[in-house]
Amino acid sequence: MASTNSSTGSKRMKTIRLYLNYAGYCTAKASHAVKGDPPKDIHFKALFAVIQHPEKGYVIFDTGYSTNFYKSTRSFPNKIYAWITKVFIKEKEEIKNQLIAAGISPNDIEHIIVSHFHADHIGGLKDFPNARFYCSTKAANQALEISALTGFSKGILKTLIPNDFHLRAQYLEELPCQEIDPILGKVYDIFGDSSILAFHLPGHAAGQIGIKIQTEKRTYLMVADACWDQRAITQNKLPNPIVRLFFDSWKDYQESIQKLKAYQQQYPEALLIPSHCLDSYHSLIQPQLNFDVL
Ligand SMILES: [Zn+2]
Repeated sequence: MASTNSSTGSKRMKTIRLYLNYAGYCTAKASHAVKGDPPKDIHFKALFAVIQHPEKGYVIFDTGYSTNFYKSTRSFPNKIYAWITKVFIKEKEEIKNQLIAAGISPNDIEHIIVSHFHADHIGGLKDFPNARFYCSTKAANQALEISALTGFSKGILKTLIPNDFHLRAQYLEELPCQEIDPILGKVYDIFGDSSILAFHLPGHAAGQIGIKIQTEKRTYLMVADACWDQRAITQNKLPNPIVRLFFDSWKDYQESIQKLKAYQQQYPEALLIPSHCLDSYHSLIQPQLNFDVL
């Protein structure tokens, strides 16, 4: 059943609140993230979002890294992943422990939205035993069906995915509330109240999704790795072509960028937040859980 309402909001939206922080980081070459940038090392922070929903409680969008990454990459073939990608995460930086420090039990988290299945976005999934997982069918199919031997070549460490993932998954395509946004395309209303709208952003990874949320202060698009640097949107500065080797589809990637550009042009007041572009969100990060800023 498709709703006739536009995703830009004729329905009365629930007031939600947002908190952003990151759990760990990896190092990367600036010249890979943006073609033409100097070949120096930069930190790719692993962003997560906590959304406070008046009825659904705390909803997480991506989890960042966890120290499970180190356990997962102790032996071959995953060890190769750790050779290529230098990851830095301490236990106290894990999203689980950041929530505990704020007085929230990981057992109480019932909803986690997964943008895609790379280790820097799903590192903490196993720390939330009671959560339902929201993701695209395509992303889940690739992650669940790829063999443990070849998963690392697609950025997927199978050991980070809970064994009962499929039983706890809510695939977006099966949600009852769907609508078509003229720019974002098919939009999935996760709770049926317009509070969190998911949409496709494929290319970087198979079946990647982003979400659109609106707090009292602003509209935010969490765009995951649809771009690594906001200049892909604002100045047409794309990654070095070498990274195409690791992308699921360069054509889809470019189409997702065009979609976000068109959205930003139409809605200049909306803030696009790529997961690893610190310039986009460093001023939004609070050291402790705080829903009053965003
Ligand atoms: Zn990432």
